[in-house]
Amino acid sequence: MKDQIKTRYGHTAKDIAQDFAEHLKYSQDADMYHTTQEGRYTALALTVRDRIIHQWNLSRKTQRQQSAKRVYYLSLEFLMGRAMTNNVINLGLEGPVREALASLGYTYEELSEMEPDAGLGNGGLGRLAACFLDSLATLEIPAYGYGIRYNYGIFRQQIKNGWQAEQPDNWLRDGNPWEVLRPDVVYPVQFGGEVRVIRERGKDQFKWIGSETVHGIAYDTPIIGYGCKTVNTLRLWSAKSPDEFDFHEFNDGDYTEAVRSKISAENLSQVLYPNDTQYMGKELRLKQQYFFVACSLADIIRRFKRENKSWSLLPDFAAIQLNDTHPSLAVPELMRILLDEELLDWDSAWDITTRTLAYTNHTLMPEALEKWSLPMLAKILPRHMQIMYEINHRFLQQAVSYFPLQPQMLGKISIIEESNPKQVRMANLAIIGSHSTNGVAALHSELLKKQMFPQFNLIFPDRFNNKTNGITQRRWLLASNPKLADLIKSAIGDAWITDFSKISDLKAFAADKNFLLDFKAIKEENKVRCAAFLKTESGMIINPHSFFDVQVKRIHEYKRQLLNALNILLIYNDLKNDGEATKNMESTTFLFGGKAAPGYVNAKLIIKLINNIAKVINVDPVTRDRLAIHFMPNYRVSMAEIVIPATNLSQQISTAGTEASGTGNMKFMCNGALTIGTMDGANVEIAEEAGKENMFIFGHTEEQIAKLSHTYDPFSVVMADDEIKKAIDLLFSGYFNVNEPNIFEPLRRSLFEEGDRYYHFADLRMYSDAHRKARELYAKDSTEWNHRAVLNVASSGKFSSDRTIAEYAKDIWNIQACPVAKDTDEDTALQDARKRK
Ligand SMILES: *Cc1c(COP(=O)(O)O)cnc(C)c1O
Repeated sequence: MKDQIKTRYGHTAKDIAQDFAEHLKYSQDADMYHTTQEGRYTALALTVRDRIIHQWNLSRKTQRQQSAKRVYYLSLEFLMGRAMTNNVINLGLEGPVREALASLGYTYEELSEMEPDAGLGNGGLGRLAACFLDSLATLEIPAYGYGIRYNYGIFRQQIKNGWQAEQPDNWLRDGNPWEVLRPDVVYPVQFGGEVRVIRERGKDQFKWIGSETVHGIAYDTPIIGYGCKTVNTLRLWSAKSPDEFDFHEFNDGDYTEAVRSKISAENLSQVLYPNDTQYMGKELRLKQQYFFVACSLADIIRRFKRENKSWSLLPDFAAIQLNDTHPSLAVPELMRILLDEELLDWDSAWDITTRTLAYTNHTLMPEALEKWSLPMLAKILPRHMQIMYEINHRFLQQAVSYFPLQPQMLGKISIIEESNPKQVRMANLAIIGSHSTNGVAALHSELLKKQMFPQFNLIFPDRFNNKTNGITQRRWLLASNPKLADLIKSAIGDAWITDFSKISDLKAFAADKNFLLDFKAIKEENKVRCAAFLKTESGMIINPHSFFDVQVKRIHEYKRQLLNALNILLIYNDLKNDGEATKNMESTTFLFGGKAAPGYVNAKLIIKLINNIAKVINVDPVTRDRLAIHFMPNYRVSMAEIVIPATNLSQQISTAGTEASGTGNMKFMCNGALTIGTMDGANVEIAEEAGKENMFIFGHTEEQIAKLSHTYDPFSVVMADDEIKKAIDLLFSGYFNVNEPNIFEPLRRSLFEEGDRYYHFADLRMYSDAHRKARELYAKDSTEWNHRAVLNVASSGKFSSDRTIAEYAKDIWNIQACPVAKDTDEDTALQDARKRK
C-alpha cells in the first residue's frame, strides 16, 4: 500500500502529522479543555524522538557487534541548549515537520521555542563538550558523553535596578521528552568510611568500606549524526538514595529523619556550580566529581568486561578524555578498580590507566586550578588518598633524576602541595596519570609547556600537544543562520555542512557584487529578527538598522567587558564634544550579555556599571540617536543563536595570555561579523586564517604584557592621555551613579590601587583607535566591510569541531569511524518484543 501511514518511523509530512496527533492525544491526554503549547511541544518532541530510537538501537548494536573502540568524554558540563531544531535538521526532517504542523494549523517556530535550554554548563567549556558530541556522531565515531543530570542548570539571570539577580533554572519541571531513563543502569557509589587491609596469599589486599552509599541512575539522550546513521549517547547520572527509606530509622519512628537523609543523598545531582574559570573548594562539588567519575568508570568497565578480553587491552577498547581536571579522580578510581577489585599488580594497573586516560587543560589562570584540601579528600575518599600518595611517591622517585640539586623543582611537580592544610593538585594528578595533556589553542598550548608546566614538559616531552577548539557549523551556521546558509549553498553547494574546509570556496564570491548585496540584506534581516527577539524577551527597543557591536560571554575581569565600557565613555565624550573620532559614526548599538558567578563581586559590579552607563547615555538627547548600550539579560545558547547572526562587530578583547581559546570568536566569524580583538587564544589562529588586514587587531601581545608587568603603572598611563583621563574622571565622579554614591569604588581600587591586573589602560588607547577604524570602515565603505566579512566566513573552515575531533581521534584516541547502516526493515517492534520475552 503506497499511502500507508507509518507512525513512529515514517518520514513523510503525513506520517509525522499522524504521529503528532496521536502523541497529543495518547501521550499528553490533550482534549479541547486541556491543550497547551507545552503539550504540543512535547508531542512534537516525542514524534521526532520516535524517528531516532530505531537508529539509536542499531548504532549500539553495530558498535557492540564490531567490538568497536569507544570514546568516553567525561565532562561536568554539557551546555546543550535546545535539542529540537538540531535534531530535526540532523535527521533531515525539517521540510516534513513544517508541512505536518502547518497542515494542523501550527507553526514549527512557536512549538520549538517552547523548549527550555538544557543549560548544564557555564560557558565555553560546557558548550565545547556539546559541539564535540555533535561532531563525534557526525564523524561516526562510537562515543559516549558522561556527566551529571543536574536538576537545576545554570541560573536564570534577571537584571533588577541594574544588578544581576539569580533565579533557579527548573528546566525539568515540565518533563524532558528527549531523555530516556535507564532504571537498569544503576551503580552504587561510596563515600567516607575506612580502608581495611587483608593479608591474602602473602599480599596485602585493600578493602574500602564506605560509610555512605549513593546510587547513580542513568538518563540517556540521543546524539544524532548529520548525514549518516550514527546515533550516540549522552549519559547523565542522577543521584538516588539507595533505599526508598532507611528502614532502621523508619522503624524507630523518625519518619522525617529518614526522608531527610534520602534528600541529602539526592543533593549530589541537584545543582550545577555556577563558577566559570574559578574553582571553589566545596565538599559537595568534590562529591559530585567523584560521583560521576565512579558511575562512568563502572559503566565503561562493565561494557569492557562483556568483551572477555585481557585487562591490558582496555586501552584498545576505551579512550577516556577528561574535560579539565573536574573528572581527574578517574586516575585513582581506575587504579582502585584495577588494584582492589580486579587484583592487578601496580605496574600493570598504572600502565593501563595512563594509556586509557587523556587530559585537556582549559586555563592558565592560577585561581582556576583545582586543589582539594587533603584532609577533606582523605575523609571522603580514604582509599583514593592512599593511591594518590603512592602515585606521587613513585613519580617523584622517577622525577628526581631530572632535577639534580634542585629539590625545589620536586615541590612544584608533586601532587601534594605542602601548605597548611596540605592541598592535592588535580592538574598535576591529571598530567601524571594520563598519556596526553592538550591545550585548546596554539598559544595556550605553548604557554602550558613554557610557563605553567615546564618541569612536566621536561619529564614528559611527548605528552603535551595542542588541539585548537572548534564549533559545530551545523548548529552555529546551518541551524541558527538559515538565510546565510541558503545563500552559501546557492553559491558553493552544501559539502561544507560535513566538510567545513569547503567553506573556502566562498572566497570566489567575496568580490561578487550581487553576492555581497545578498549577504548584506541577510545581515539586515538577522538584525530585525534579533531586535524583535529582544523586544519580546525583555522589552528592549533597539534600532535594527544600527551597527551591532556585540560582546557576549561570561562576565569576567580577564575578558575585559570593562575595557569595552571605558571605550564607550571615550565615544560618548567625543560625541558630546563634536570630536573627530565620531564625526561620521553610524548609529551604533553596543550589546552586552553574560552571567557573572554569583559570588564574584567585581563581575557583578561590571554588569551594574554597564546598566548604569546605558541608563544615562541612552536618554541623553545629544547622543541617543547615534549611541545606545544594552545589557541583554540571561545570555544562553538559544540567545546566542539569534544574536550572533545579527552581529557586525565581534568583541574578543581579553588580555593577551588569559583566554585559553575562546569559541564565541569562531561563531561570530562564520556568521559574517568582523572581529576586534587581541592576539589571544584562538584569535591568533583566526588572524592567521583570515589575515590581520581583515580584522581589527590591537593591544599588547602576551610577550609584551609579560615584559610590561615589571614596570606597569596604570595611574601614569591615564595621566598621560587627556581623553582617557576625562573618561575616568567622568566615571568616578558619580555621573552614572548619582543616587548610589561610591558603588563603583571596588572597580576604581582594582584599576588603580591593585595595579590593574588585566592591563586595561595598557591597551585602551590602541583599542579605541582600532574601534574607530572599524566604525569608519563601516560608515565609509560598506562594500569593503562586507567583502571582509565574507572573507572571514570563507576563512573559518579550520574552526569546525569536526576538524578538532578528527585530530583528537588520530593523535590521542587512535580511533576509527564505525559506520552504521540504514536499517530498511524498521518496523520490528513487535518481533523484538516477542524475542525478548
Ligand atoms: C560559545 C558560548 C560561550 C563561550 O563564549 P566565549 O566568548 O568563547 O567565552 C559561552 N556561552 C554560550 C551560551 C556560548 O554559546
